[in-house]
Amino acid sequence: MSPIASAADDGSRLAQEVPGNSDSRMLKSRSLAIYVSVWILAVFLAETAWAQQRPAASDPAVPPAPGDMSRLAEGVYVRIVSPDSDAVGNAGVVILESGVLVFDTHFTPEAGDALMSRIKSLTPLPVRLIINSHFHPDHTHGNQAFAGARMIVGSSNTRRDMLQEDIPALNQVQTIALAQVEQLSREIAKEPNAKLQEALRAQLGARQAFLRRMSALKILPPVMTLDDSLNIMDGGREVRLLCLGDGHTDGDIVMVLPEAKIAFLGDLFFNGALPNVEDACVLDWMKTLKEVLKLDVRTYVPGHGPVGTKSDVELFLNYFEELKGLVGPAVKRGDTLEQVVSDLRLPARYSTFGFRNFFAANLQKMYAELKALEVPVPAKAGVKKRGVPR
Ligand SMILES: [Zn+2]
Repeated sequence: MSPIASAADDGSRLAQEVPGNSDSRMLKSRSLAIYVSVWILAVFLAETAWAQQRPAASDPAVPPAPGDMSRLAEGVYVRIVSPDSDAVGNAGVVILESGVLVFDTHFTPEAGDALMSRIKSLTPLPVRLIINSHFHPDHTHGNQAFAGARMIVGSSNTRRDMLQEDIPALNQVQTIALAQVEQLSREIAKEPNAKLQEALRAQLGARQAFLRRMSALKILPPVMTLDDSLNIMDGGREVRLLCLGDGHTDGDIVMVLPEAKIAFLGDLFFNGALPNVEDACVLDWMKTLKEVLKLDVRTYVPGHGPVGTKSDVELFLNYFEELKGLVGPAVKRGDTLEQVVSDLRLPARYSTFGFRNFFAANLQKMYAELKALEVPVPAKAGVKKRGVPR
């Protein structure tokens, strides 16, 4: 675990949301692409039934949790979000003796506020700890709703990416939105046609609303970071935060509640859905999922989709293995990426998965990684030749 980072650079100046389609043509950076893809992902989810499933309370005798929270064990809750909401990513809540721990905070401050209001109906205890599973905005942009928590925990790489990717990207989006507002204002002023002027005013109103949301959003990166593991002991409960390896990003952490045998996996686990591999190393992800499967847990909370079992995680890993099995021979044959994308089809057993539009991107990522392994590494005298390390 690294030392506690300075809270002074908590990125409080930031913010943004999902850029509109007109923005997407202008946005070049990887992080901006993430915002777009997260939004596409949310829309796609809205068309799938799987994400609507809700986890059952572990004990039917226990009253249901308020609102859209579900109880997994005593003091342990999950909010599996509606795909067409502004929350996008799932969130977990653990009520400790001295306060509340929140695992991921949804996509917007408003969604974070909604989570906070549900926590208030569960317990009078204050929120003490925020855990960010990784840097993606659908897991971190609700952080500001818990500003009183003061302590945000994540991996060193999550902090790095929020500071170096997220904040600059959102500043860029803010600048673009401001320029659009100014441009539309000028066009309205010189437009003689009343109908066209009305249409422009509608556009202006939408862009102004977007700009207001961006301006109100604050990026709050972790102020306590870990690179290996961190155990939190509070009252009778133990919480383990683990860096099990690269995967969905190079900064994913997993939260394990050993007594309840529950693991919150963030986006290392898409349950019943194809994964977003935008920032992933899929070959490392497969290794990390094997580490996940070694955990002594029974309940696996994904970043997207319903609460799952070990067999759900195994199926998700199996998807990667089948993907590798499809792409590997094509790479060996020397097929081009275009051939791979046009020739290969999603195996039928995943035909009910959500996010099926990610399949082409999944193929591309696997192709790129397997292709990189084919590049010969110059052998040095006396050094055993190995594959290309990552
Ligand atoms: Zn993610």
